[in-house]
Amino acid sequence: MKAIINAKVVTENSAADGGILFDERICEIGDIHAGGAEVIDACGAYVIPGFVDVHIHGYKGFDTSDGNKSGIENIAKALTSNGVTAWCPTTMTVSMEDIQTALDQIGELMQGGEGARVLGANVEGPFINPEKKGAQSAEFVKKPNADFIIKNKDRIKLVTLAPEVDGGIEFIKRVTAETEVNVSVGHTAANLNLACAAFAAGARQVTHLFNAMPPLNHREPGVIGAALTDDRVYCELIADTFHINPVLFKILDKVIGDRLVLITDCMRAGGMPDGEYTLGGQPVSVRGIECRLSDGTIAGSILTMNMAVKNFMDAVGCPIWEAVKKASLNPARSVGEDENIGSLAVGKRADIVICDSNINIQKTIISGSLAYDCNRQIV
Ligand SMILES: [Zn+2]
Repeated sequence: MKAIINAKVVTENSAADGGILFDERICEIGDIHAGGAEVIDACGAYVIPGFVDVHIHGYKGFDTSDGNKSGIENIAKALTSNGVTAWCPTTMTVSMEDIQTALDQIGELMQGGEGARVLGANVEGPFINPEKKGAQSAEFVKKPNADFIIKNKDRIKLVTLAPEVDGGIEFIKRVTAETEVNVSVGHTAANLNLACAAFAAGARQVTHLFNAMPPLNHREPGVIGAALTDDRVYCELIADTFHINPVLFKILDKVIGDRLVLITDCMRAGGMPDGEYTLGGQPVSVRGIECRLSDGTIAGSILTMNMAVKNFMDAVGCPIWEAVKKASLNPARSVGEDENIGSLAVGKRADIVICDSNINIQKTIISGSLAYDCNRQIV
């Protein structure tokens, strides 16, 4: 048994002085009795639930689609330094063979491994609209293939789909009827009616709201209008302040609160110096927080989850627990993992992060074991 004492403990709806007692799971929160437990003194720091990043391609030079299982393992380990304790390795629009290779590797890592737990894949493409491909490769765009998703349902959490492409709505109906996979509307030119039809058919997420879709127009509110007004739908947001003007963080906080899911959409240049990298096989230049293809198209980000939470908190002026929830419980809910992870609650996995008020990560604990310590680097 372990105990963190002298902390500000962030639960679903508050931050309160106290401690937390845990083994692999959380046993007690608040005014705890440490007894013979191994004690960690937080010295007044925050204790928050580990972050859940459901949309991230790579980090520290590695990419989910490299065809290299050890690369995905390296990402999992490195993400603990950002307070991430669970993630969905996200594939790009590459060949079906390369996607299958990544899914097989992700399936193996779901059985257990070091670092942030692998929940299952996020398949971002190839079932997209080439007109809204963003930094995805048009060469590999495919018609929706429900059989492919159903065949791999045990290793997929999310799949992006443009509902306007041939067979799009049928795909949503089949995938949501036959699997637990959440269909995310994205890389799409769908209008309001079609987006509403996609949600009625069972889609429950939107891939990076505002990016790679038509803007919110007052006569044709499109996917954004449909998503903001449908209480069943989770909306991903890249909160790096570059993809989205932070004034929109404030609007989204007021309008969709608990349906907002912070993501990083990070590519392999995350945690690396400025320079030349690749994303889904295409060259990308990284300067500061901007990642671009040679034609100027924005290509992923180098955002970290702790920075996303800080950016959101700073822009909105909300308490820490409100911002943290959008990076932990809300994403866990969007992929059906909230009974197990996503908040500090008795009985849930002891995925716990100690950080300061600027969300600088001090320690990351996964299933009760120390996975990262800022004083010792990755342990
Ligand atoms: Zn992405």
